[in-house]
Amino acid sequence: AAKAGGRGQVHAFDATLAAGLAARKALEQELRAGIDRGEFGLVFQPQVLAATGSVCGAEALVRWHHPDGMRLPGSFLPCAEETGLIIELGDRIVQDVAATIGRWHEKGIRHRLSVNISARELDHASFVRKLRDAVASAGAPASMLELELKESLLMGCSEDALDAVTLLRGDGASIALDDFGTGFSSIARLRELPIDRVKLDRALTIHVAQSEEARAIAQALVGLVHGLGCTAVAEGIESADQAKILRMIGCDVLQGYAIAAPMEEAAFLDWLGSPAAGRRLAS
Ligand code: C2E
Ligand code: MG
Ligand code: MG
Ligand code: MG
Repeated sequence: AAKAGGRGQVHAFDATLAAGLAARKALEQELRAGIDRGEFGLVFQPQVLAATGSVCGAEALVRWHHPDGMRLPGSFLPCAEETGLIIELGDRIVQDVAATIGRWHEKGIRHRLSVNISARELDHASFVRKLRDAVASAGAPASMLELELKESLLMGCSEDALDAVTLLRGDGASIALDDFGTGFSSIARLRELPIDRVKLDRALTIHVAQSEEARAIAQALVGLVHGLGCTAVAEGIESADQAKILRMIGCDVLQGYAIAAPMEEAAFLDWLGSPAAGRRLAS
């Protein structure tokens, strides 16, 4: 019976694996078609200065406007990365980001726009050239651009990729270390990386209003970020209490639902012009 049971398990495992592979294959095909049909777009989430609540920038986040409904990056980015489709998708995102910066610049908006870059993109030889070209031809200064690179990515990337990042930084773009606190950064290595801002992951900021310990840790990390000569950005701020505490412990910039959720460009521009954009945290 044990033997039969064992074999049954193997069969069940095979079936699950096969179903998983088929689903992955289907998603890959859908992704390819979605890219061709231009179903991907960006939404924008504001970042504000902790001290005053005034807007200082925004993060661009990709959305898939699938015929069946809107899809979040978590449902398709892993597949895009594994299949290499992220290169094609990333090209569209880069064009989109550059065009957006160009439009904002024309309107007199000078806020920095941050774009998330995955490891595969950064390791792709022509990526940085395409990004520089796109921003230049949009007629906007590179200083309006920020690249968000995950901690794990910067820790493990090639010398060539690092050189490319340094080149962009030389143009005036800034570099943010994303999701800090979720990986295994070597502090010694952090010092050597070309970074301007460090984004403390939501996992580090979520409990600051309830837990003294969480607050002490966040405060120590803000100190570390400042020690590196970088700006400290807190992500995933969902309450006014969290915002207040992070401001008190010296965090420079805040981002999260408590300030505003990611918005389509038109809504974002309306929001910029609304009193909420400057007063949100002033109370
Ligand atoms: P991320 O760069 O850390 O982005 C922050 C995520 O937190 C976004 O999820 C955002 O919508 C969400 N968020 C913002 N405020 C709050 C809050 O107060 N509470 C909570 N719980 N969440 C909040 P999203 O848009 O689903 O993106 C997930 C991840 O996908 C991003 O994490 C980023 O790593 C990746 N990603 C997004 N857009 C792009 C892109 O254009 N290119 C690449 N390569 N990756 C992207
Ligand atoms: Mg990010
Ligand atoms: Mg993040
Ligand atoms: Mg994150």
